[in-house]
Amino acid sequence: MKLKDNLYNKQLKRSEPKFKLWRYAGLLLTYKCNCACQFCYYNCSPEKGGLMTKDIFINAWQSLKAIAGETAALVSGPVLSAVERVEPKIHITGGEPFLYFEHMCTLLEEAKKQNLGKVDIIETNAFWAENEKEIKEKLKTLDRLGMHRLKISCDPFHQEFVDIDLVRRLADIAIDSLGPQRVLVRWQKYLAQPVNFENLNEKQKQQLFISATKDYPCRLTARAAEKIAPLLDAKPIEQIKSQNCKTSFLDAKGIHIDPYGNVFSGTCSGIILGNINRTPLEIIWQNFHPENDCIINTLFNFGPAGLLELAEKNGFKPLKAYAGKCHLCSSIRQFFFNKKLFPQTIGPAECYT
Ligand code: SF4
Ligand code: SF4
Repeated sequence: MKLKDNLYNKQLKRSEPKFKLWRYAGLLLTYKCNCACQFCYYNCSPEKGGLMTKDIFINAWQSLKAIAGETAALVSGPVLSAVERVEPKIHITGGEPFLYFEHMCTLLEEAKKQNLGKVDIIETNAFWAENEKEIKEKLKTLDRLGMHRLKISCDPFHQEFVDIDLVRRLADIAIDSLGPQRVLVRWQKYLAQPVNFENLNEKQKQQLFISATKDYPCRLTARAAEKIAPLLDAKPIEQIKSQNCKTSFLDAKGIHIDPYGNVFSGTCSGIILGNINRTPLEIIWQNFHPENDCIINTLFNFGPAGLLELAEKNGFKPLKAYAGKCHLCSSIRQFFFNKKLFPQTIGPAECYT
């Protein structure tokens, strides 16, 4: 596809920033997770569900190829400045995808049958890495099915739930079997110096989370907004009022798609751009125009502060300060969700409960 195939781009002048072609898709196999990390911006936990079907998985991948092709236009600033060969990238995530290992393999078998290419990244928190033989077999299977890289989550948030020995075992065996270039540990620092939660009180835990968030900032939506944002330095709401989300939408180079087919821009979890069960992804991209949706239009032009008036009319009581615009956005959206307002855009329930 070309940039001008998009509805919003069509009406822009040559010099205006365009809505980018999506070049990666993070596919959430499930919202279920063995963990319930405090910074999880999808609110995943053992109580959550959902499992991506073969149709959603394959359709999403095919559509991404149709959008990005094998050669995607790279835009630097407002005008087209370079064209480069870029493979569209698929990333399997969750929830915890290894909870449904067999199902994930079935999806990958189908993608292989259809010659869709390699999965760039499969992400895991390593909870399953007890047995060396089983680890080797699983990695061998994923390698055969086209996994390019394995990403292992490793930080204080995950370490509250996953024993570091499991992470170490998986990282060592994966480096051995796949090679160091194909194994990402996020973050190495916490593999070298893991946190022992055993004797920590609540206050000490919070200090650790604050310092981890300073080292590696996370998007403050969903559980991160509820649990982590209140621990961070807050900015007066007046300061946030000038921040719109135009760049966040236009420059998002990719999307996330949840197990039910809901499409989110970049990491803006819980703001539904469309659903691929109803509309193919390439049509969602083509038809994207902020003006099609009042919530997205307001966020695009005025940021979350633009939603305040409407929220307050419905009873929302804002705080005086927030950790950032995504924290404010998440609080207002949570309020709308609780009131069952704008369900087409603010959902699904997994992101808000
Ligand atoms: S392991 Fe990942 S998906 Fe699971 S709760 Fe933690 S951040 Fe969320
Ligand atoms: S404020 Fe909301 S729409 Fe804007 S970037 Fe943050 S989560 Fe996305």
